[in-house]
Amino acid sequence: MEQYTGKSIFRKIAIGRIFLYQKKESSVKREHVEDTEQEIKRFEAAKTVALGQLQRIYQKAVKDVGEDNAAVFEVHMMMMEDDDFVDSICHIITEQKVNVEYAVATTGDNFSNMFAQMDDDYMKARAADVKDISERLISVLSGRETDMGNLDEPVILMADDLAPSETVQLDKSKILAFVTRHGSSNSHTAILARTMNIPAIIGIDIQDAWKGKMAIINGYTGEVTIDPEPAYFEEMMAKKQEDEKKQELLKALKGKETVTKSGKKIHLYANIGGVKDVASVLQNDGEGIGLFRSEFLYLESEDFPTEEQQFQAYKTVAENMAGRKVVVRTLDIGADKQVDYFGLEKEDNPAMGYRAIRICLDRPEIFRTQLRALLRASAYGNISIMFPMIISVQEVLECKRILAEVKAELKDQGIAYKDVEIGVMIETPAAVWISEELGREVDFFSIGTNDLTQYTLAIDRQNAKLDSINDSHHPAVLRSIQKVIENGHKGGAWVGICGELGADTTLTKTFIDMGIDELSVSPSFILPVRDAVRGLE
Ligand code: PEP
Ligand code: MG
Repeated sequence: MEQYTGKSIFRKIAIGRIFLYQKKESSVKREHVEDTEQEIKRFEAAKTVALGQLQRIYQKAVKDVGEDNAAVFEVHMMMMEDDDFVDSICHIITEQKVNVEYAVATTGDNFSNMFAQMDDDYMKARAADVKDISERLISVLSGRETDMGNLDEPVILMADDLAPSETVQLDKSKILAFVTRHGSSNSHTAILARTMNIPAIIGIDIQDAWKGKMAIINGYTGEVTIDPEPAYFEEMMAKKQEDEKKQELLKALKGKETVTKSGKKIHLYANIGGVKDVASVLQNDGEGIGLFRSEFLYLESEDFPTEEQQFQAYKTVAENMAGRKVVVRTLDIGADKQVDYFGLEKEDNPAMGYRAIRICLDRPEIFRTQLRALLRASAYGNISIMFPMIISVQEVLECKRILAEVKAELKDQGIAYKDVEIGVMIETPAAVWISEELGREVDFFSIGTNDLTQYTLAIDRQNAKLDSINDSHHPAVLRSIQKVIENGHKGGAWVGICGELGADTTLTKTFIDMGIDELSVSPSFILPVRDAVRGLE
């Protein structure tokens, strides 16, 4: 049994086998080798494993999506055995005396460039396939995997790092816990783990030898145990069952009001990243959705989601929430949330860069598409629209102007929509200081304490080294919250918190004393926060 300690970002226990996740675009190093025969043997062995994987994926795909759609995996198998492809790899190994990973990556690049330049559309499209098979071979060679399709049981996913765009594409039903080497407790991957209600630990040096081993993740202590001894296994199993019992007890609070003993009621909503999260909001009796991070729709996509795709997503959420409030935040892309198809340039300070509302106002065609989809969906439920990263009244007026134009356009086209509530996120010190003026322009504020802490304390929330001083309880943050509540109320706006701090039950009393109207938390925190509120005088 080996034990390592990192930083926990969600207090829960998971027990299962380890899956070592490999980033798709892993960079491959060129290394000199003397024994080229041995490298060719490694290639042959990896090819056999990869073909076996493809065969299993193909069979599963035939069952799930039919033979025609599964045919792509047959093409992959054929390509992997193609003489030209195999010869090129062996030739590079023997002629250049290099490692197999390098030979595979180079062949993959060369073949994919060659296909991309062909006139025939079918052949052009093969460029991506050849890249896919070389990546598959490289991940087999590294002992890590990119593909969870072969797994029969849920696993503990371990990776050096996970970007939000990768995390959203993982099959959540197969993940028991996350363990990463990098990442901070305020990163979006950490937030996602909380949304998924699974333990996550960061700061662990992941080792290749752990692949497939049994592990225990203790989110209470930050301990990761590999190959646990029977006594420890029993102890943790008992603790896990105790946790499950506590969860069961909290279920008694379903259907109860979120109200203090003296009758002060607050709205307790949930944060979601997509349509699939609505199920856990309903299971945990969320009274509404206080933050739908709409950019996750963009992160999951290979290209800009169309108006229709977005409309369907917002409509489904609104309908499933059956008249309860659904606050959708407009696109908050940029900083750590990157997607290739936006073509954003690399910036020195991305958190303070071209992101969120700044992109939307600069590229109004993207913004209009989203607003049209949101307004159309508003006819099917109780949608509110919220703008992120606001720093000026001017920005809000501009958002309102574009929204009015989109409404007029829909009206002309005879398309139904409702007069939705609009709000802004308070995430910057600038927004705090102009909150009195902002409050006159909008119906509500939602305080994004993750970013508000970052910008108030000048601490990059992605920087794990600064985790210990990234303190959302800092008086500067708490006084900002107090000020925003007062100013929001002066202008007639209701005020909520949708940052992670909203779920911190050590502050529930403070927020209620400050006059907060709403808290929006990850679905798994709804019942614990309700419990905390109901315990207050
Ligand atoms: C926040 O900043 O607190 C917030 C809720 O937005 P995000 O975490 O998505 O930046
Ligand atoms: Mg934010």
